[in-house]
Amino acid sequence: MVFARSVRKSFGPLEVLKGVDIVVPTGTVACIIGPSGSGKSTFLRCINHLEKLTGGILLVDGEFVGYELRQDKLYELKDVDLCKQRAEIGMLFQNFNLFSHMTVLENIVEAPMRVRRTPAAEARQDALRLLERVGLIDKVDSYPRELSGGQQQRVAIARAMAMKPKVLLFDEPTSALDPELVGEVLQVMRDLAQTGMTMVVVTHEIGFAREVGDQLLFMDEGVVVERGDPREMIANPKSPRTAEFLSRVL
Ligand code: ATP
Ligand code: MG
Repeated sequence: MVFARSVRKSFGPLEVLKGVDIVVPTGTVACIIGPSGSGKSTFLRCINHLEKLTGGILLVDGEFVGYELRQDKLYELKDVDLCKQRAEIGMLFQNFNLFSHMTVLENIVEAPMRVRRTPAAEARQDALRLLERVGLIDKVDSYPRELSGGQQQRVAIARAMAMKPKVLLFDEPTSALDPELVGEVLQVMRDLAQTGMTMVVVTHEIGFAREVGDQLLFMDEGVVVERGDPREMIANPKSPRTAEFLSRVL
């Protein structure tokens, strides 16, 4: 479960998040939409402590992100402990971010072997199983440059899954793809959701949000303006700002 309460983030004088609340129960999918600059990426980055909060609290599965609670005091996590915590929170980006000098298989086994100390044979078995799931078993020895964008993003998802994360965060995972490649990535995400993966998805794919999202949040200027059941909210937005945004993206 992801639990955020009054999350604030400023960059110098610029307040980007002005008190964001969200609860994403385990096994559910939250989709976040909103205009450019509204703070969606910043919020996702706060969830895995790529950004440090300036206020509020954020927990993933009951643990303070970036901190450790000892005798009623919060201590900032450092190096190894932070790394361990981050390993529980997978993140997918617009631009895939695969290691270009490694094959598909090497990309997937790298973190489990290095961070989790998974034995090579087991990491390889896991990787092959995941590649089967994302439909890319035949690309196991390819390099990222030999793959389409959609295939690269599916490898990136398999790589994230290889760490057996508690939560997966997606930051516009399909927005860099040619239109004909979007569907294959959304299908993999849909399958993940069906297996009970906890997911927070920033997306402009309203159809995906409607079909797969358990909740939809509309962010604007650093706050959640409206939230609710995706189908209801898309059909009948309550806030004029939500309505205006939806009319532009639908
Ligand atoms: P988009 O839809 O374009 O991806 P977004 O909703 O993801 O937009 P963010 O990337 O979270 O928006 O950015 C929100 C605001 O925070 C923007 O004004 C941006 O310029 C600012 N911002 C983000 N990161 C930093 C940073 N490291 N330093 C200063 N300002 C930042
Ligand atoms: Mg963004």
